[in-house]
Amino acid sequence: MSPILRQLFAPATGFFRRPFFLWVALPFVAALSVPVAKAAPNSIPCDLADGFDYPVGRPDAVGYYKARGFWPNGHLGEDWNGRGGGNTDLGDPVTCAGDGVVVYSDDFKAGWGNVIIVRHAYRERNGRIYFIDTLYGHLDKRMAKLYDRVKRGEQLGTIGRGPHNMYYAHLHFEVRKNLSIGMKRSNYAQDYSNYHSPTHFIDANRRLRKEFRRIDIPVNTFYKDSYSYVTGTRIEISRPTVAEAKPQVPEPVAKIMSRNDGTGGGREADQPKPQEESNSDQGEGARGLWKVIKSIFSSDEKN
Ligand SMILES: [Zn+2]
Repeated sequence: MSPILRQLFAPATGFFRRPFFLWVALPFVAALSVPVAKAAPNSIPCDLADGFDYPVGRPDAVGYYKARGFWPNGHLGEDWNGRGGGNTDLGDPVTCAGDGVVVYSDDFKAGWGNVIIVRHAYRERNGRIYFIDTLYGHLDKRMAKLYDRVKRGEQLGTIGRGPHNMYYAHLHFEVRKNLSIGMKRSNYAQDYSNYHSPTHFIDANRRLRKEFRRIDIPVNTFYKDSYSYVTGTRIEISRPTVAEAKPQVPEPVAKIMSRNDGTGGGREADQPKPQEESNSDQGEGARGLWKVIKSIFSSDEKN
């Protein structure tokens, strides 16, 4: 009989001191200590926004001015600067425009630096509920993380200078109707079909009726076209045209979104579906891979 077999069939006395026990137990201990990949949610319930404020100089942008405005096919947001000029506004608070859920919080680098995107549900004057994304770019610090529920006026981060201090300090602020854009602006029409002019939107929706009603806000809706690339070789397997570009999202989220396609005016969700079991295809591993791919094929868009 081999020594190992002898160990296995030996009497139990002193078993726990034997090296053989460790070899048997190790895989089980290792399996227990591996964190279970958390399934990404399809939606997160959140209050309807009761209005929107400016993201600097809370709530009325006091002490700030709009250095660059919004224009289609050009600048897809607004640049807000402190009246002191230069970098006097570096580190100033950036606050959330309205109640919502954080759907992106990361250092995108490449022209953007730290970015937070918050998704809001609000009721338009036509009585319908729409979703919008507000984007806060070039942040020095990010204080909100993915899936956080945030309130109007809550601090999300601080004004920064973008990656490698490439700009004078300012906030780049966008308001989007299309929930698929994320950090892939070049895949989508850069006009009013997908974007609001931020100041116009905020001024039109400063105060909305408080409804004390929670809406399931869809999350994980961003189009992930980098999966079509092979890392290392830079061979493009299939890059869909803008018209074909669809977000790869869990089915329940796709249903929420598809109900509202074609309006050209945001996403309506009068009848939010009860949340279903999350798919696991957006797990930590996939997100890690996504980060690696993203860092290789980072956007060269200027903001
Ligand atoms: Zn900008």
